[in-house]
Amino acid sequence: MLSKSQIKQILKDRNLKPTKKFGQNFLINQKPIQQMIIAADINPNDTILEIGPGLGALTQELITTGAKIIAQEKDRNLVAVLKEQFKTVENLEIIEGDARAIVGNKNFCSLQFKVIANLPYYLTAPIIRQFLEAENPPELMVFLIQKQVGQRICAKPPRMNLLAVSVQLYATPKIINYVSQKCFWPMPEVDGAIIKIMPHHEKTGATTDRERFFKIVRAGFSHPRKILISNLADGLNMNKNDLEKAFTTLAIPLKSRAENLAVAEWIKLAKNL
Ligand code: SAH
Repeated sequence: MLSKSQIKQILKDRNLKPTKKFGQNFLINQKPIQQMIIAADINPNDTILEIGPGLGALTQELITTGAKIIAQEKDRNLVAVLKEQFKTVENLEIIEGDARAIVGNKNFCSLQFKVIANLPYYLTAPIIRQFLEAENPPELMVFLIQKQVGQRICAKPPRMNLLAVSVQLYATPKIINYVSQKCFWPMPEVDGAIIKIMPHHEKTGATTDRERFFKIVRAGFSHPRKILISNLADGLNMNKNDLEKAFTTLAIPLKSRAENLAVAEWIKLAKNL
């Protein structure tokens, strides 16, 4: 793994600086890298998509697993560094481009693959959503993201939130470990968390009418201080008595707030309203 001074030197030699816009915080500690690799449970038959390889801290360890690694990096200056550094490596393909375009990529429509990344903050929600809603979702995803976002994704009742419902409709997320901000250079403002997201086999997401489901969930969370029935009555233009009847039938307490409901209850509600 590259040390902080080696990273600085590589960038300096090429007249480059870490780019904030691309969320460049390079890993300078081996521990989170090992934890991510273990969490991804990699074997040599796997195809792994790495998003944002940067200067290759994680890539370096991924290639030693023997799996086929496809690394997609948006910053063309870093692509040049990576191509030079890994030019003799056979199980690595480096692609220049925006990771948000991958979901539509034909190569990933039929492939069985896993995703791994130390993700820039701005990509966290779009990337997770795109992969979970894809026709052919990954087998699993392991991400290093902001600690607070990781906790929000893994929340349970009575602390549910819109992001948690959006992820847990499709997958089971789990915090693997927290990562100190000191493990990165430049140092980000907050600590990180490694999360593992395991898509459901039964594809609950696919059998649910997505648009309707999220219309109801968004209405439910629209005013966090109000009880759920009031939010649904306002947001969906429904009669409170009808809502109370539906809640009673589904055995959901009438005074529930949106953050009290687990995904299974949202699914029941969406089917019955
Ligand atoms: N994996 C490296 C770098 C992580 S920093 C490490 O852990 O050290 C995040 C990386 O994502 C940067 O290299 C950044 O250039 C890249 N990146 C940012 N936006 C991207 C996008 N839309 N698609 C692909 N890569 C992106």
